Amino acid sequence: MLASGPGKVSDRLLDWYDANARSLPWRSAPGQDRADPYRIWLSEIMLQQTTVAAVTPYFERFISRWPTIEALAAADDADVMAAWAGLGYYARARNLLSCARAVAHNHGGRFPADEAGLRSLLGIGAYTAAAIAAIAFGKRAVVIDGNVERVVARLFALAQPLPLAKRRIAEHADRLTPNHRPGDFAQAMMDLGATVCRPRAPACPLCPLQSCCEARALGQPEAFPVRPARPDRPSRTGLAYVLEHRGQVLLERRPPRGLLGGMNGFPAEPPAAADWRSAGQVRYVFTHFGLTLHVMHATSEGRPGGLWWPVADLHRAGLPTLFRKAASQVWQ
Ligand code: SF4
Repeated sequence: MLASGPGKVSDRLLDWYDANARSLPWRSAPGQDRADPYRIWLSEIMLQQTTVAAVTPYFERFISRWPTIEALAAADDADVMAAWAGLGYYARARNLLSCARAVAHNHGGRFPADEAGLRSLLGIGAYTAAAIAAIAFGKRAVVIDGNVERVVARLFALAQPLPLAKRRIAEHADRLTPNHRPGDFAQAMMDLGATVCRPRAPACPLCPLQSCCEARALGQPEAFPVRPARPDRPSRTGLAYVLEHRGQVLLERRPPRGLLGGMNGFPAEPPAAADWRSAGQVRYVFTHFGLTLHVMHATSEGRPGGLWWPVADLHRAGLPTLFRKAASQVWQ
């Protein structure tokens, strides 16, 4: 690290936090009394995989309806699931309730105050346990989320790619974490990553750590953290048979499981003997492979059974993008 020690980094960051902390409904102000563990736990569970902007209205609704851990523990499962609807990853809501009931019934309504105790609760992993221990209980804990990972990888210009770099990031983060105000330090790192040291276009001129940041000194902050090279996606080919009969086209509903399960599409096998001609091909990239779909087209006098749809109304057939592209090969 350039011209600076760990103590200096945490001091600068805490000074910056005192002036720039985000005001969030689950937080107490910088340097104030510790935050309520229930609010910190609820917000951290909600924030897993979701943004602050998406979480805030949910958090406020939950807190006004179930202001304490005991109130949440006594709630109906269906009410909690309904209040969670839209936040996604529904296993988190089920774990939330189980955890609330465990704290209410087995821990006298108080969250354990250390990382090990917190980690024994359902839905609380290493990151969440460290965050609650630091922010709600003032314990020195090394809190590492994606924002912190990015800031540390840049401060030290770590050349090792993720996820291999995680161990070194944890070592550096440990050295940077101060003994005093560990909760504010954790939140300051999160805020710096979210508002200044952003994934794209970090605002280095506004950063309190700019003079000790190696990635900035190299002139390429966005190069860190280094991402592993993506393995090439395998490519596959497929066929789609577009059979037309008097202004209608034959569709089929795909099986419920598997690729595009339950969606309408064109058959992958010829649905009738006909003069099939190539209408070209479309390419589509799925998460795990790239697909080249050869589109075959024919008109027929006969009308085999199946789901016939007016060509003029095909935009209402609920076709996924792949098959909409295939249709546009036939009817430009
Ligand atoms: Fe991030 Fe730039 Fe600050 Fe370095 S100087 S920590 S890259 S915002």
